[in-house]
Amino acid sequence: MDQIKAKIRDIADFPTEGISFKDITPLLKDPEMLNAAVDALIQPFKQSEISAVVGMEARGFIFGSLAATSLGVGFVPLRKPGKLPHDVETIDYELEYGKNCLEIHTDAIQKGERVLVVDDVLATGGTAKASCELIEKLGGKVVACSFVIELDDLNGRQKLDDYSIHSLVNY
Ligand code: AMP
Repeated sequence: MDQIKAKIRDIADFPTEGISFKDITPLLKDPEMLNAAVDALIQPFKQSEISAVVGMEARGFIFGSLAATSLGVGFVPLRKPGKLPHDVETIDYELEYGKNCLEIHTDAIQKGERVLVVDDVLATGGTAKASCELIEKLGGKVVACSFVIELDDLNGRQKLDDYSIHSLVNY
Protein backbone atom coordinates (compact mmCIF):
# COMPACT_ATOMS: atom_id res chain seq x y z
CA MET A 1 0.00 0.00 0.00
CA ASP A 2 2.94 2.33 0.64
CA GLN A 3 3.97 1.88 -3.01
CA ILE A 4 0.45 2.83 -4.13
CA LYS A 5 0.50 5.82 -1.78
CA ALA A 6 3.83 6.92 -3.29
CA LYS A 7 2.02 7.26 -6.64
CA ILE A 8 -0.64 9.65 -5.26
CA ARG A 9 0.32 13.29 -5.46
CA ASP A 10 -1.01 16.09 -3.20
CA ILE A 11 -1.87 19.27 -5.05
CA ALA A 12 -2.38 22.15 -2.61
CA ASP A 13 -5.28 24.58 -3.11
CA PHE A 14 -6.85 22.74 -6.05
CA PRO A 15 -9.53 23.23 -7.31
CA THR A 16 -10.08 25.90 -4.63
CA GLU A 17 -8.04 27.30 -1.77
CA GLY A 18 -7.79 25.05 1.26
CA ILE A 19 -8.38 21.79 -0.64
CA SER A 20 -5.54 19.29 -0.81
CA PHE A 21 -6.38 17.46 -4.04
CA LYS A 22 -5.36 13.80 -4.32
CA ASP A 23 -4.02 13.46 -7.84
CA ILE A 24 -4.14 9.83 -8.98
CA THR A 25 -2.69 10.42 -12.47
CA PRO A 26 0.83 9.20 -11.47
CA LEU A 27 -0.82 5.96 -10.28
CA LEU A 28 -2.66 5.61 -13.61
CA LYS A 29 0.64 6.01 -15.46
CA ASP A 30 2.34 3.14 -13.58
CA PRO A 31 1.03 -0.18 -14.96
CA GLU A 32 2.34 -2.32 -12.09
CA MET A 33 0.92 -0.11 -9.34
CA LEU A 34 -2.34 0.45 -11.23
CA ASN A 35 -2.78 -3.29 -11.52
CA ALA A 36 -1.96 -3.71 -7.82
CA ALA A 37 -4.51 -1.03 -6.90
CA VAL A 38 -7.29 -2.60 -8.97
CA ASP A 39 -6.51 -6.04 -7.52
CA ALA A 40 -6.67 -4.63 -4.00
CA LEU A 41 -9.97 -2.82 -4.74
CA ILE A 42 -11.71 -6.08 -5.67
CA GLN A 43 -9.78 -8.60 -3.54
CA PRO A 44 -12.30 -8.80 -0.61
CA PHE A 45 -15.23 -9.19 -3.03
CA LYS A 46 -14.01 -11.92 -5.39
CA GLN A 47 -16.33 -14.48 -3.74
CA SER A 48 -19.21 -12.03 -3.15
CA GLU A 49 -21.16 -12.86 -6.31
CA ILE A 50 -20.93 -9.30 -7.59
CA SER A 51 -22.69 -8.97 -10.95
CA ALA A 52 -22.01 -5.30 -11.72
CA VAL A 53 -19.62 -2.51 -10.77
CA VAL A 54 -20.98 1.05 -10.55
CA GLY A 55 -18.57 3.99 -10.92
CA MET A 56 -19.18 7.72 -10.56
CA GLU A 57 -18.18 10.37 -13.06
CA ALA A 58 -15.37 10.89 -13.68
CA ARG A 59 -12.49 9.11 -11.93
CA GLY A 60 -14.83 6.36 -10.76
CA PHE A 61 -15.15 5.42 -14.44
CA ILE A 62 -11.44 4.59 -14.60
CA PHE A 63 -11.13 2.43 -11.49
CA GLY A 64 -14.67 1.09 -11.81
CA SER A 65 -14.17 -0.16 -15.37
CA LEU A 66 -10.87 -1.81 -14.48
CA ALA A 67 -12.44 -3.39 -11.39
CA ALA A 68 -15.37 -4.66 -13.49
CA THR A 69 -13.17 -6.37 -16.09
CA SER A 70 -11.03 -7.88 -13.31
CA LEU A 71 -14.16 -9.31 -11.66
CA GLY A 72 -15.47 -10.43 -15.06
CA VAL A 73 -18.68 -8.37 -14.75
CA GLY A 74 -20.18 -5.35 -16.47
CA PHE A 75 -19.70 -1.67 -15.64
CA VAL A 76 -22.48 0.88 -15.01
CA PRO A 77 -21.68 4.62 -15.17
CA LEU A 78 -23.31 7.19 -12.87
CA ARG A 79 -23.27 10.49 -14.70
CA LYS A 80 -23.91 14.17 -14.16
CA PRO A 81 -27.34 15.34 -15.35
CA GLY A 82 -28.17 15.37 -19.05
CA LYS A 83 -25.36 13.07 -20.17
CA LEU A 84 -27.08 9.67 -20.32
CA PRO A 85 -29.12 9.20 -23.50
CA HIS A 86 -31.78 6.68 -22.37
CA ASP A 87 -34.40 6.76 -19.55
CA VAL A 88 -32.80 7.78 -16.24
CA GLU A 89 -33.37 7.70 -12.50
CA THR A 90 -32.02 10.82 -10.74
CA ILE A 91 -30.82 11.70 -7.24
CA ASP A 92 -30.06 15.17 -5.85
CA TYR A 93 -27.74 15.44 -2.86
CA GLU A 94 -25.85 17.95 -0.73
CA LEU A 95 -22.11 18.46 -1.07
CA GLU A 96 -19.87 20.15 1.51
CA TYR A 97 -20.50 23.36 -0.43
CA GLY A 98 -23.54 23.35 -2.71
CA LYS A 99 -25.58 20.63 -4.36
CA ASN A 100 -25.01 17.92 -6.94
CA CYS A 101 -27.02 15.47 -8.99
CA LEU A 102 -26.31 12.01 -10.40
CA GLU A 103 -28.17 9.90 -12.95
CA ILE A 104 -28.29 6.22 -13.88
CA HIS A 105 -30.02 4.43 -16.76
CA THR A 106 -33.17 2.81 -15.36
CA ASP A 107 -32.36 -0.47 -17.12
CA ALA A 108 -28.72 -0.57 -15.95
CA ILE A 109 -29.38 -2.51 -12.72
CA GLN A 110 -31.79 -5.42 -12.39
CA LYS A 111 -33.83 -6.06 -9.21
CA GLY A 112 -31.72 -8.00 -6.71
CA GLU A 113 -28.50 -7.46 -8.67
CA ARG A 114 -25.39 -7.47 -6.44
CA VAL A 115 -23.38 -4.32 -6.98
CA LEU A 116 -19.90 -3.08 -6.01
CA VAL A 117 -19.54 0.75 -5.96
CA VAL A 118 -16.05 2.03 -6.90
CA ASP A 119 -14.57 5.54 -6.74
CA ASP A 120 -11.12 7.08 -6.34
CA VAL A 121 -11.71 9.11 -3.15
CA LEU A 122 -14.01 8.76 -0.14
CA ALA A 123 -14.22 12.31 1.22
CA THR A 124 -17.46 13.36 2.99
CA GLY A 125 -19.24 10.29 1.61
CA GLY A 126 -22.07 12.33 0.05
CA THR A 127 -21.40 11.13 -3.47
CA ALA A 128 -21.08 7.49 -2.47
CA LYS A 129 -24.24 7.62 -0.32
CA ALA A 130 -26.25 9.14 -3.18
CA SER A 131 -24.85 6.48 -5.51
CA CYS A 132 -25.91 3.68 -3.17
CA GLU A 133 -29.41 5.16 -2.86
CA LEU A 134 -29.72 5.42 -6.64
CA ILE A 135 -28.75 1.74 -7.02
CA GLU A 136 -31.31 0.81 -4.35
CA LYS A 137 -34.03 2.86 -6.09
CA LEU A 138 -33.61 0.46 -9.02
CA GLY A 139 -33.81 -2.56 -6.71
CA GLY A 140 -30.07 -3.32 -6.65
CA LYS A 141 -28.22 -4.56 -3.57
CA VAL A 142 -25.05 -2.63 -2.65
CA VAL A 143 -22.61 -5.32 -1.49
CA ALA A 144 -19.85 -2.80 -0.67
CA CYS A 145 -18.15 0.44 -1.65
CA SER A 146 -14.46 0.30 -2.55
CA PHE A 147 -12.15 3.34 -2.73
CA VAL A 148 -8.50 3.87 -3.56
CA ILE A 149 -8.23 6.75 -1.05
CA GLU A 150 -10.07 7.54 2.20
CA LEU A 151 -9.80 10.98 3.82
CA ASP A 152 -10.31 10.06 7.47
CA ASP A 153 -10.98 13.55 8.83
CA LEU A 154 -14.07 13.99 6.65
CA ASN A 155 -15.87 11.03 8.27
CA GLY A 156 -17.30 9.61 5.04
CA ARG A 157 -17.33 6.15 6.60
CA GLN A 158 -19.78 7.41 9.24
CA LYS A 159 -22.18 8.70 6.58
CA LEU A 160 -22.01 5.28 4.93
CA ASP A 161 -22.53 3.25 8.10
CA ASP A 162 -25.28 1.19 6.45
CA TYR A 163 -22.73 -0.14 3.96
CA SER A 164 -19.53 -2.16 3.94
CA ILE A 165 -16.58 0.14 3.14
CA HIS A 166 -13.15 -0.84 1.82
CA SER A 167 -10.28 1.56 1.09
CA LEU A 168 -6.63 1.08 0.17
CA VAL A 169 -4.80 4.12 1.54
CA ASN A 170 -5.82 6.54 4.31
CA TYR A 171 -4.91 10.16 4.93
P1 AMP B 1 -17.48 13.23 -1.30
O1 AMP B 1 -17.23 14.41 -0.44
O2 AMP B 1 -17.08 11.93 -0.61
O3 AMP B 1 -18.87 13.20 -1.83
O4 AMP B 1 -16.49 13.38 -2.54
C1 AMP B 1 -16.95 13.87 -3.73
C2 AMP B 1 -16.13 13.48 -4.93
O5 AMP B 1 -15.09 14.43 -5.01
C3 AMP B 1 -15.54 12.09 -4.93
O6 AMP B 1 -16.02 11.41 -6.08
C4 AMP B 1 -14.05 12.32 -5.01
O7 AMP B 1 -13.54 11.69 -6.18
C5 AMP B 1 -13.85 13.81 -5.14
N1 AMP B 1 -12.98 14.35 -4.11
C6 AMP B 1 -13.34 14.83 -2.91
N2 AMP B 1 -12.30 15.29 -2.22
C7 AMP B 1 -11.22 15.08 -3.01
C8 AMP B 1 -9.81 15.34 -2.86
N3 AMP B 1 -9.29 15.89 -1.75
N4 AMP B 1 -9.00 14.98 -3.88
C9 AMP B 1 -9.50 14.42 -5.00
N5 AMP B 1 -10.79 14.17 -5.19
C10 AMP B 1 -11.66 14.48 -4.22
